[in-house]
Amino acid sequence: MTTSIDQIKGFSKQQLVNSLSNEKFQLIIFPTEQCNFRCVYCYEDFKIGKMPRWLVDATKVLIKNKMPKLEFLSLSWFGGEPLLAKEILFEIAEYSQSLAKENGCKVYGDLTTNGFLLDIKTLTRLVELKQNSFQISIDGDKESHDTTRLTRNGKGSFDKIWGRLLAASATDLDFHITLRIHITDLNHESVLSFCERYDKELKEDSRFRLFFKEISNLGGDNQEKINGLISRKSAKVLAKELTERYSGNSKKINELGHYICYAGKPNSLGIRANGNINKCTVALDDDRNNIGKINPDGTLTLNNEKFSTWIKGFTTLDSWQMGCPLSYMNNNSVVGDIAIKKVS
Ligand code: SF4
Repeated sequence: MTTSIDQIKGFSKQQLVNSLSNEKFQLIIFPTEQCNFRCVYCYEDFKIGKMPRWLVDATKVLIKNKMPKLEFLSLSWFGGEPLLAKEILFEIAEYSQSLAKENGCKVYGDLTTNGFLLDIKTLTRLVELKQNSFQISIDGDKESHDTTRLTRNGKGSFDKIWGRLLAASATDLDFHITLRIHITDLNHESVLSFCERYDKELKEDSRFRLFFKEISNLGGDNQEKINGLISRKSAKVLAKELTERYSGNSKKINELGHYICYAGKPNSLGIRANGNINKCTVALDDDRNNIGKINPDGTLTLNNEKFSTWIKGFTTLDSWQMGCPLSYMNNNSVVGDIAIKKVS
C-alpha cells in the first residue's frame, strides 16, 4: 500500500528522483521520419527521411561521452516508423550495449511502432539488444482499425499486425507489448469486439497488456477529421471503463502517482532524423520544441531558455504542467515569473 510519504503533491518520490538524476538518461531517437502508414489523424508531415551517416555517428559519440557517468540509459525509438530504419536502430543499440558492458551501465529500449514490420527475426534481434518493450496502436477490431490505420498505399493493416502479435506470442522471447487501443465516439462496438478477440487469444500471455486512450486532437492538418471522431465526448467514458476492467494485476494509477511526461524531464532529449533536438514528440513543427541541435562531433548546442521552459513543472509540481508541458504552455503564456492564463 502506497502512503503519502512516498508521494509529493501526488507524484511518486521515486519518479521525481529518477527524472532529476544525472545517472539516468533517456534518449528518444527518430531513426527515420518516414512511415509506411498514413493514419487519417496523423500529425506528422514526413518531410524528413532517415538519419544520415554523420548523424548516426554523432549520436553514437554522444552516447559514448555520456555513458561513463550513467547507471541507466534508456533508448526510445520513435518516428515515422522506426522499423523502416531498423539497421540504424540495431547499430546504435548494439554500440550502446557494448559500451554499457565496459561502463557498468544498463541499457534498455522501447519502440513506438505500428507493428507492421515486427516479424520474428526482427523481434528476436531487438530482444537480444534489450530493445524489447513495444507500444503498438490499434484502432478497434479489423473493420474500424482498417478505416483509420491505413498503409501508405491505402490498404488496411489489421490482419498483418494481429498476425505479428500472435506469432510473437507463440515464441518464448522476453518482450513486453502494450497495445494502445484508440477509442473514438465511432468505434465503441469495434473496440469491444477487439477486447473479445484479445481475451480469447492473448489475455493469458502476461507479456501483453492493453492501454486505452481516447483520441484527442493533437494538431496538424487533420483537425476536422479528428473533431468529427471525438465530438460526442463518450470515448473518454469507455476508455475509463475499459481501463478499470483490464487494470487487474497492473499497479493502480494512483499508486504510481501523477504521470510525468518525458518532455518535462531534465534528463530526456529527443534527436530528430535531421539532427534537431526536441523535447516533445508531438509538436514536431513547433519552434518552442526545437531546443537545439547535435553537432557532428557529438556535442549538443542547446538553447537553455527554451530547454528550461519545458522542465519548469519541476519548480511548480503542477500536475498539468508535468503531465503535458505542451498543452500547459498552449494554455498559459509566461511573462517573467508571472503566468498569464489565456482566456478564449
Ligand atoms: S508534452 Fe504533451 S504532447 Fe508532448 S509528448 Fe508530452 S504529453 Fe505528449
